[in-house]
Amino acid sequence: MAVDFTFPPEVENVREQVRAFIDEQVRPVEDRLRAEKADRGGFARAISALRARARSEGLWLPQMPPEWGGMGLGPVAMAAVSAEAAKCAIGPFVLNCQAPDEGNMHTLLHWGTPGQKERYLRPLCEGTARSCFAMTEPEVAGSDPTLIQTRATLCDDHWEINGHKWFISGARGASFAILIARTEDRPAVPQAANSAFLVDLPAEGWEVVRDVETMSGSHNHCEIRINELKLPPDSLLGGRGDGHRLGQARLGPARLAHCMRWIGQADQALDLMVGRSMERFSHGSMLADKQGIQWLIAQSAMEIYQAKLMVLHAAYRIEAGLSFKTEVSMAKHHVANTLWKVVDRAVQVHGALGYSTDTPLAGMLTQARWSRFADGADEIHLMTIAKAAIASYEASGNTLSATGSLPL
Ligand SMILES: Cc1cc2nc3c(=O)[nH]c(=O)nc-3n(C[C@H](O)[C@H](O)[C@H](O)COP(=O)(O)OP(=O)(O)OC[C@H]3O[C@@H](n4cnc5c(N)ncnc54)[C@H](O)[C@@H]3O)c2cc1C
Repeated sequence: MAVDFTFPPEVENVREQVRAFIDEQVRPVEDRLRAEKADRGGFARAISALRARARSEGLWLPQMPPEWGGMGLGPVAMAAVSAEAAKCAIGPFVLNCQAPDEGNMHTLLHWGTPGQKERYLRPLCEGTARSCFAMTEPEVAGSDPTLIQTRATLCDDHWEINGHKWFISGARGASFAILIARTEDRPAVPQAANSAFLVDLPAEGWEVVRDVETMSGSHNHCEIRINELKLPPDSLLGGRGDGHRLGQARLGPARLAHCMRWIGQADQALDLMVGRSMERFSHGSMLADKQGIQWLIAQSAMEIYQAKLMVLHAAYRIEAGLSFKTEVSMAKHHVANTLWKVVDRAVQVHGALGYSTDTPLAGMLTQARWSRFADGADEIHLMTIAKAAIASYEASGNTLSATGSLPL
């Protein structure tokens, strides 16, 4: 039988190594920083020290090929590694596989010219630079990139760009941005109106207005005003009108990478839920003995199991060069909702303790909320999934190719 749900020994080894590294070296530091209520600078210094250790143990840049200093893992192996790394909030940063840099690295690897790769990708891979990806705008729906208003105009020897972006993660302190702006007035299809640009930062004409305060505090998701920003012609990443294609190529695997990290978080929430239920006594027995609590645990376990199968299968399809759009949409929708529900149930089982900041759950809950609309809102993914089912039925009289193309 060809269906095999085990990893090859070399991947299993890496996974064990990452798990041990996170448990023994990263989690104690993160717990201490949280207890001390350390500021962003404190976290940054700790991450920098842990990065040196990750590098010396060969756990650096798992998603990139060896010629870029990485471990050369494909999407399936990355699913295992990312889920382990994300059992701590700072884990992906320590291994240098965090958003948005991970997605930007893949984008540069596939779309950059040799010169752009040396200039922008190399320092990202070496961990000496950070980056951001600037697409969403406050004035128009981020769900529909054909509405983008930020405008790039080609003047004699340079591009001039004017516009407004927000929720640009990691913008403060980034060495460069991948910026999406409208360049085409009469594109052949609406999706071909935008282009991508590489912007060295800081830059005249690129103003970080504020770090947008969110329901979980400030996390460097910035509002940016772009006013007469001037860029050389070779700052274009990909061709004119390729912005949408490039964004989609970036977002497919990047969405799955989010799912891999969210599985790590959901696993952690279920561990906390079960652990707490086994030590809390009420009405004559432990919470773990109550059927009402067991249902919360069972429901969560089933949903995480589905999430893992979906992510592994979507990663397998990407790695095998098969179409993956519908599978990634299904995984993104399911894993985001699973994360939200499992963390919410874990808070419930912890009672007041779950609402406090004495456990990681409060932070996980507010973080989990954005997973249901960032990188594609639930409703947009449902639209993609439904379209695929209808197209499959139209083409073949059944919906089999829209349910994962599995041999069942
Ligand atoms: C924490 C965080 C980090 C982010 N980081 C970045 C970043 O680094 N770079 C970047 O460019 N952007 C970033 N974003 C923005 C994110 O990608 C957008 O929030 C997302 O694309 C949705 O766009 P929007 O917020 O404008 O919502 P809208 O497009 O206005 O949608 C709002 C809601 O309307 C509904 N909706 C929209 N369209 C449809 C439809 N066709 N059918 C049915 N319902 C619909 C959905 O419920 C949706 O949630 C980030 C957002 C968050 C919260």
